[in-house]
Amino acid sequence: MKTGVVFDIKRYALHDGPGIRTTVFFKGCPLRCVWCHNPEGQSPFPELLVRPARCLEACHLCLETCPETAALKVQNVVRVDRRRCRVCGSCADSCPSEALALVGRRLSVEEAAEEIFRDEPFFRQSGGGVTFSGGEPLMQAEFLAELLRACRSRGVHTAVDTSGHVPWMSLESIREDVGLFLYDLKMMDDRRHRELTGVTNAVILENLVRLVRSGSRVVVRLPLLKGVNDGPDHVEAAAQRLSRLGGIERVDLLSYHALGRDKYGRLSRPEWAADFFPPTPGDLERIKKRIQAFGLEVRLGG
Ligand code: SF4
Ligand code: SF4
Repeated sequence: MKTGVVFDIKRYALHDGPGIRTTVFFKGCPLRCVWCHNPEGQSPFPELLVRPARCLEACHLCLETCPETAALKVQNVVRVDRRRCRVCGSCADSCPSEALALVGRRLSVEEAAEEIFRDEPFFRQSGGGVTFSGGEPLMQAEFLAELLRACRSRGVHTAVDTSGHVPWMSLESIREDVGLFLYDLKMMDDRRHRELTGVTNAVILENLVRLVRSGSRVVVRLPLLKGVNDGPDHVEAAAQRLSRLGGIERVDLLSYHALGRDKYGRLSRPEWAADFFPPTPGDLERIKKRIQAFGLEVRLGG
């Protein structure tokens, strides 16, 4: 039985496909979007999250537990020497205040499916199901494929939220077990796409065409940041391309939010290079109308 690394399972999600959904977040992503709000989804491996503000002054449990002497206290606050840390998770298990936490746990297909199936009554009542997200779920394509098969054989609706930056073979291998693809399109200009995500958009655009032509149901999601990709150059180029392609179920406009900002420090990662802002509600309405003018159905939010 395959195993995979998952960093979160969120119940009662309302924006990741139809009805009430359970969203399973896979670890590992081939993109490095400069605005990423899930930086803990980028590395394929488990990571140690440190929240010094939660550390209890009189406690030294992690120092006693750590086999590598990587957990330290500086001025009564926990610090982790990342060069020594092996991410074994012992300190997180012993921490009474969740100042230390392990993100990413390895689950078998059976274990993950069991967690998903717990919510079946909500799926049935609401027309919902499970959404596989990340990170990029197709980075763990075999684990994902087995989970999708398990869900489909149980009659649970499945959605996959993908960056599209994956080998076509991976998409092809899961296509028939996916009820709906949520397909991200971040930037139409390839040079800007490379600057902002670290990868070309050529594979993403190519896979989108193949996916739609193969008959899969696809909702395209446009994450929008003010002054970055909310201008006509991106929005109209995307709308034009999608309307020519035909067969897209809908376009969802996802407004940027900064909720992931604190996570960078907790993972000892460099901070964001720039401040980003969401488009205003007026901007979003204008963008919606512009895309609708190309004959596409558009929704604000996921
Ligand atoms: S994860 Fe393991 S090695 Fe790293 S600080 Fe915690 S106990 Fe030490
Ligand atoms: S175990 Fe938790 S609360 Fe105790 S010293 Fe370590 S980080 Fe702080």
